[in-house]
Amino acid sequence: MIEKRQFYIDGQWVDPATPRDHAVINPATEEPCAIISLGDQADTDAAVAAAKAALPGWMATPVAERIGYVEKLLEVYKARAEEMAQAMTLEMGAPISLSRSDQVGAGTFHLTNFIRAAKEFPFEHSLREDLPAHRIIHEAVGVAALITPWNWPMNQVTLKVGAAAVAGCTMVLKPSEESPLDAILFAEMMHEAGFPKGVFNLVNGDGAGVGTQLSSHPDVDMVSFTGSTRAGRAISKAAADTLKRVHLELGGKGANLVFADADPEAVERGVLHMMENSGQSCNAPSRMMVEAPFYDTAVEQAAQAAEAVKVGDPQQEGDHIGPVVNAVQWGKIQDLIQTGIDEGARLVAGGLGRPEGLNKGFYVRPTVFADVTPEMTIAREEIFGPVLSVMKFETEEEAVRVANDTPYGLTNYVQSTDAARVNRLTRLLRSGMVQNNGTGRAAGAPFGGDEAVGERARRGGPSVSSISSR
Ligand code: NAD
Repeated sequence: MIEKRQFYIDGQWVDPATPRDHAVINPATEEPCAIISLGDQADTDAAVAAAKAALPGWMATPVAERIGYVEKLLEVYKARAEEMAQAMTLEMGAPISLSRSDQVGAGTFHLTNFIRAAKEFPFEHSLREDLPAHRIIHEAVGVAALITPWNWPMNQVTLKVGAAAVAGCTMVLKPSEESPLDAILFAEMMHEAGFPKGVFNLVNGDGAGVGTQLSSHPDVDMVSFTGSTRAGRAISKAAADTLKRVHLELGGKGANLVFADADPEAVERGVLHMMENSGQSCNAPSRMMVEAPFYDTAVEQAAQAAEAVKVGDPQQEGDHIGPVVNAVQWGKIQDLIQTGIDEGARLVAGGLGRPEGLNKGFYVRPTVFADVTPEMTIAREEIFGPVLSVMKFETEEEAVRVANDTPYGLTNYVQSTDAARVNRLTRLLRSGMVQNNGTGRAAGAPFGGDEAVGERARRGGPSVSSISSR
């Protein structure tokens, strides 16, 4: 059994003020795989105090030097990539091949791009060329609390730590209690990279404890949070009294508009994207909306593609999917599949229970519902499991209206070989991102858009979008 009870505060590993053991469960076996400790107010205070003390020195450190530390971190991160992949697979169940490629790879990608962006970013410049004495100086927000989820753990940790480090912020990371091992390993890497003491601190804990303590802490200047809408609301409220800056990346219910003229791989690609990471991605294209003339064919293709998705042991290499993260999530997904059946959606692949041959572990059958209508629960709620809802539309206008009728506003997708249509719809879909015809986001493209965007869309107000098309 792995035992990792200590926190990383002020450049060293320290015991919790009051030990409070928490078992990390391996979702593939349902057995504990590690023991950590959950922090309390004294641990949070110590970490924030260390970050506050380190702030003036770190802010005054020249940008080129701060970048140098991140470059060293990237070197260490690459050298210890296999350990990182193993940690993520163990604690959150991503298949080892996915952990090695995409889960670890996301961290490499972000650190590399923060280094590049920081080298290009004008930290100090004049207001205008004709006003050279009027200086704009971009400086650190201050002490940043970084609260991260378990589903793409290193993706979120590096997105936050990389940005904070080059910007001159000091920080306290509170990773998800479901996936603390990768964050502990990351803290070791920060230490190995030689960051000055207090710049980076890690306290494990749950949302009600360390999460809330950080959000309401008077010496924390900013909270950067990725996770559920529920927690995002709680954090905003907890942060309000101290007027700190709050940055939220929340859930999603992405619409994937598939037109009859879409490329031949569009449906299969949408299903595989939905099922990746066992459906536990905020930007999953979970509502496949298909143009009427292509609908029956698309449903057949989607069912076939889902049936072909293998589910299995995350420790084994391959392109299968693993379990979902925990018992609560497994139960929630089962309830939503049952709700889909009860509300009259047509089950065309998968369904309730574990896949055949898997009697232990939080495994879910890759599931596709057809004939889903906009008011059904499975069209509205983020399921966060390998469950796809397929819906039919007749006109572009209807497709856009239904796609935008959601409180979520993270990502939407369009599949069509008609470039003019893609261009048109991309501007009408109200989400932070719109990705088209299977194109990924290029380095540096913003990742974001959340409930606020969704709410504004429903009220008809403005939003900011990043678009990728080919
Ligand atoms: P979660 O909200 O339960 O937990 C996320 C983090 O917040 C954890 O560290 C948790 O301990 C902490 N937390 C929980 N309640 C808190 C509170 N009241 N105050 C402070 N901290 C609190 O989410 P999760 O289950 O870990 O992650 C899944 C969710 O994250 C999904 O909704 C998914 O869509 C979303 N997500 C969004 C993005 C994005 O970029 N928009 C990326 C990944 C995941």
